[in-house]
Amino acid sequence: SALTAAEAEGDERAVEAALRPRSLDEVVGQSRVREQLGLVLEAARMRDKPPDHVLLSGPPGLGKTTLAMIIAHEMGSPLRLTSGPAITHAGDLAAILSGLNEGDVLFVDEIHRMSRPAEEMLYMAMEDFRVDVIIGKGPGATAIPLEIPPFTLVGATTRAGLLPGPLRDRFGFTARLEFYEPDELDQILRRSSGLLGVDLAVDGSAEIASRSRGTPRIANRLLRRVRDYAQVRADGVVTHDISRRALDLYEVDELGLDRLDRGVVDVLCRRFGGGPVGVSTIAVAVGEERETVEEVAEPFLVRIGFLARTPRGRVATAAAWRHLGLVPPASSMP
Ligand code: ADP
Repeated sequence: SALTAAEAEGDERAVEAALRPRSLDEVVGQSRVREQLGLVLEAARMRDKPPDHVLLSGPPGLGKTTLAMIIAHEMGSPLRLTSGPAITHAGDLAAILSGLNEGDVLFVDEIHRMSRPAEEMLYMAMEDFRVDVIIGKGPGATAIPLEIPPFTLVGATTRAGLLPGPLRDRFGFTARLEFYEPDELDQILRRSSGLLGVDLAVDGSAEIASRSRGTPRIANRLLRRVRDYAQVRADGVVTHDISRRALDLYEVDELGLDRLDRGVVDVLCRRFGGGPVGVSTIAVAVGEERETVEEVAEPFLVRIGFLARTPRGRVATAAAWRHLGLVPPASSMP
């Protein structure tokens, strides 16, 4: 199968694609979003019109691309994929928009990273299904209006707050994806193990689920790493004990913190006395981009109650100190 071939080639993206749910019914968790989106799509089908533009926000790996593909699939429409960083000039966007057919779904990942002129072109396209293409430069430049067939834009961003207000306002439906509960990750793991042919024991699945950082992409990835371990060091069965040993080896701790997460907590407590400290300072100390610290590590650390964002900067909680095996200072937050 395609999945076997992708695995044999170590093609991470192809394996991920093969594990994606194809319909809203197959999506695990996010029940509110699923119901709301289901209604938006159903109503659009009844009116025989493309659905309103959809904005999906949330940390990486929670299912934004998956939902975009499902929207297209459920509407029976082709999906065009692009990303904010790929659209550096307004002309890039004009080329994409002019190639759309009526009802197409255009997915723009990392939509907050589009250039300003492209963003302005997009406002008009979303609202009026029309763009002005500027021909020439300086005083002789002319704007040529170009009609675009009605389409549905699906934008994805790590945080809706990163988008300028006027862009955000042009989405008819906005959904925020939340981290998954362990029992939801457990369901995802059981589904994936079936597709991958992994012999996954009940307690093995629970162990991987609890260390997956609330993130389906991470759960699926850890499943494959634990399977490697089970095949090489044991009889191939992914048990609780095998999962625990494998995940320790891959430096994923009992709470699912990875090296970056731990680095942030470590720097915050040991170097800066628990804060408050600015996110840029933390980023420099762990040797990462500020965006990565802010959009990947922090949401999870906030979620598990290890870090608080305050007006004066980031602060470690008592739980974070204890996780490092340190005694929290008397002044630390509970
Ligand atoms: P994002 O676009 O938010 O970074 P993706 O949609 O690419 O995340 O999802 C990453 C992986 O996690 C995919 O392989 C997909 O199979 C899986 N996944 C995400 N959300 C779900 C879900 N709700 N149910 C089952 N699998 C999911």
